[in-house]
Parts: sequence; structure tokens; C-alpha cells
Amino acid sequence: MDNNEEIKETEKISINKLNECIEENIINMSPSVDYNFLEESSKIMFQGINITNERQIVPIVLFNREKAISIVLKFFESLENKIWYNQVKNILLGQDKNIDINIFNSKDIDPLEKDENGFYRYSGYSSLECKPNSTKSLIKILLKEEFEDVYEHIEKDKITLEDIYIITHEISHTFDLGNNEKSRELSSLFVEVTPFCFENMLSEYLIRKNIVNERIINKIEQRTIADSIRDARTVWAKINLVKLKEREGRLNKENIKKILEENNISDALYVRSILSDILACNSNIDFQARYMVAELTAHQYKKMYKSNRREATERLKIHCEKMMNGNSSQDDVKLIGYPINEKEVLKVVNDIRDEKNR
Ligand SMILES: [Zn+2]
Repeated sequence: MDNNEEIKETEKISINKLNECIEENIINMSPSVDYNFLEESSKIMFQGINITNERQIVPIVLFNREKAISIVLKFFESLENKIWYNQVKNILLGQDKNIDINIFNSKDIDPLEKDENGFYRYSGYSSLECKPNSTKSLIKILLKEEFEDVYEHIEKDKITLEDIYIITHEISHTFDLGNNEKSRELSSLFVEVTPFCFENMLSEYLIRKNIVNERIINKIEQRTIADSIRDARTVWAKINLVKLKEREGRLNKENIKKILEENNISDALYVRSILSDILACNSNIDFQARYMVAELTAHQYKKMYKSNRREATERLKIHCEKMMNGNSSQDDVKLIGYPINEKEVLKVVNDIRDEKNR
């Protein structure tokens, strides 16, 4: 999108819609989340690292389906802690009685098609879905839509490197999935931490085993970081607009402009991109906060893992157990790298930035 188009597109932002959206975000706020700390951390994160609005291009690396699945399996088998491997094997072979997996192409989508457990088989994104009051879960993997042309014209049934990350990510969600609604609610802010840690270990594995060039892995990591920073920006803006709305009753152009200017945000395009990100996303602050929290934690976890793989995976195992039982606290997540105060957040953010610029 060039600048003119972007301006045209974002001028459509309606103040009414923004008010409705923030209203909904307020309704969805959770009493167990410390929004002041989230506000501080998100600010440190998005102001500490510059990102462009364009998404990083990651070179397409293709594998046939068998090879892709075998890479995922061998990765889990290579981990110092073996507890996850059997579960992954059973899931991928369709032998886990509680977890089904569905890997599909967007052209296969019939969004209304249900399976025998009542799950909608397909959706426009990859996810792990669970049934309340049931032990059944379904992992859905939507193969990269943006490469549809490649599938059509070059080779069908190929899986990209990014799909391998998505498969690893969604399966990792099953390792710490709480067994009831209450535990899921309590640990909700940390729900993306485990998958992000596994993605980082996958990167380390792919480089160590010379499966993929380090340069390409770096691009994938940079993209994940950029996405999390954008999430941080949205979290920060949403919390500030929530406060503004609670204080002044209604958001309007003037009070929004004022609050952004107080934080040195005045560039019109930048403001519009913040506001359109808010409108484009789920009306729940925690939703974006999860990815930001996961990136901050997983970055620290990666360092821990590089210096002592056994110790790091042992800690991750304990984290998964606590999450599963619904008794995970901030202090527990700290053991795998979650920065629990502003000073620590700043340290991690500086670290991410230095690595990015290296
Ligand atoms: Zn996830």
C-alpha cells in the first residue's frame, strides 16, 4: 500500500467505531491482570525498538509433507526432556485419543463443516480449540495462504518452513493447556509463552542440525519480534484510550490527539496506523498482550536454553505443569524468563534491540 492509499484507507477510521471498540475492551478486561504494568512494559517495548509498517519478507523454503512432519518429530525427539515427544508423535500420527490434528489448505475450507466431536474442521487461521466440559481438542493448521500460487503452479502439497513453525506452535499449546475453564482463565496472559519458547528451541535445532540457513531463521525471528512490538503498541494505545474514556466519557479527535502528543506521538500516518490496528484487532487487551508477554519471556528463555539446554527444558516442564494445574503465577513464569518489573523489561528490550542491530 503506498502512502496515499494508506491515508485514504485510514481516514475512514470512525470515532464512533473507536468508542465502541474501546467500550468492548473495557468490558473484556480481566480483574486478575495488572494493566498498569502492561502499560509500562508495552511502552518500553514499542518505544525501545523501531519497526516499519511493512512486514518482513521471509524467503519461502518448501518441504514435502513427510519431510516437514519428520522435522517436527525429530525436533521434539532431540529435546533434552523427552516428556513432550510421545505426545507429539501420537498427535501427528492421529493416535492421541484427546487431540485431533487437521492440516489443511485454504482451498479446502468449508467453514461450516463439523467433525464427529462437533468441532468446525476448518477456520481461516491456525489454532488449538478445546471444548468446554470435554477433554477433546482439535489442532487446526492452515497452510500458508499467501503462497497458494506457489502450491498451484509449482508443487502441490508442500509445507513451508513457516508452516513447520506453526505446527510446532499449535502442538506446543497442548503441553500447558489447563484442564478446566478456571485454570485457563487464571493463566490466560501467559498462554502464548510455551509455544514461543518451543519456536525458539526449533530455531536453535534447525540451525544446529544445518537444516535451514541461519540467515533465514533470523528473518523469521525478526518478523516475530516485529509482530510482538506492533502488538505492544496496540496494547499501550488501548490501555491509554481505556483510561481516557473512563476519565472523559467519550473519545474524540481532540482528546485522542492530546494523549498521543503527550507521549510524543504526533506523526499523522503513525497515529492512523495505531488507530487502525486497534480497530482491526480482537476487542480484548489481553489478546495482544499475550504475544508481547510471550516474546519478552521467550527471548530470555532462548538465552537460558543456549547456555544450558537441560536446565532450561526442566524449567519449561515445570512451567507447563503449573499452567496446566492453573496455579501458575508471575513469579513462576519468571523462572523461564518473564521480566517482572520495569527494569527487567527494559533490559530485555535493550537486548532484543542490540541483537536486531547486530
Ligand atoms: Zn498461540
